[in-house]
Amino acid sequence: MAVIIDGKKIAQNIRHEVKAETLRLKEQMGVTPGLAVILVGNDPASQIYVRRKENACKEVGFLSREYRLPQDSEEAQVLRIIHELNQDSSIHGILVQLPLPKHLSAVAIVEKIDPRKDVDGLHPWNTGRLFTGNPYHIACTPRGIVEMIDQCGIEIEGKDAVIIGRSNLVGKPLALLLLNRHATVTICHTRTRHLAEVTKRAEILIAAAGRPEMITGDMVGNGAVVIDVGINRINDGRLVGDVAFAEVAEKASYITPVPGGVGLMTVAMLLANTLNAARDLSAGVQK
Ligand code: NAD
Repeated sequence: MAVIIDGKKIAQNIRHEVKAETLRLKEQMGVTPGLAVILVGNDPASQIYVRRKENACKEVGFLSREYRLPQDSEEAQVLRIIHELNQDSSIHGILVQLPLPKHLSAVAIVEKIDPRKDVDGLHPWNTGRLFTGNPYHIACTPRGIVEMIDQCGIEIEGKDAVIIGRSNLVGKPLALLLLNRHATVTICHTRTRHLAEVTKRAEILIAAAGRPEMITGDMVGNGAVVIDVGINRINDGRLVGDVAFAEVAEKASYITPVPGGVGLMTVAMLLANTLNAARDLSAGVQK
């Protein structure tokens, strides 16, 4: 039976550290880290995520600002806010909640954020730095996953890591992070043939497909570390991951639960990135 990785506890420890460091920054430099979140439209899941981020900011003593725009907003409206926030010295982190309504391009919008304030790590300047092995802001979910693996004392170097999903938000940056840590990385996606054969070989298996409980026990090798990124609301109202938890836990050595796993780490890493941005921007550190 696998060890269940306690994302709640690991994330809580990080939030405590961020809170203590925020207090120190306020006392010694007179700086309060500030995060601005832009939400376009009324996607119910996004509304919940934005509220969680706002609460987390309050808990650690950040300034938090929220911009809610209607579903039919034009790109120019969003860009105007980003332009203002780029200039605003009380704001150190800018986050555009994804997904955006279909008529807006996330790539075009994120590119307009000052990369030093891109605490989601999605601007090409940040993804490019990750690509070349010299990262600055790292996307929060992949960073949270690696942090969890590290905190459990699990070696990454030399391991066969398989990621299911190739999104810009999770799969791709995670692949680079693990590659930078000397794992042998395989990325699977919807066109991958013989998926189970690939997943069975994984020593570290990360599921980020957004398909409820698609990873079943027969797809996992004995002793694998299984990280479940998926957050899926199913018909009976329950929240489940991409991993069939009970049967996979029988075979894995470590497993993350949903909820109580990766999701909490994502928010903790957003706080850590924003604190880092506040520290560097207020000290005039050139990156
Ligand atoms: P996405 O839809 O952008 O990407 C999904 C990826 O999975 C695609 O690359 C697709 O090719 C692959 N995929 C889908 N079905 C597959 C299948 N049957 N076999 C193989 N590959 C398949 O999604 P995303 O933004 O990367 O998010 C993935 C999941 O993670 C979603 O459930 C999302 O809600 C969740 N998520 C969680 C957090 C968190 O903090 N826990 C953060 C971001 C995303």
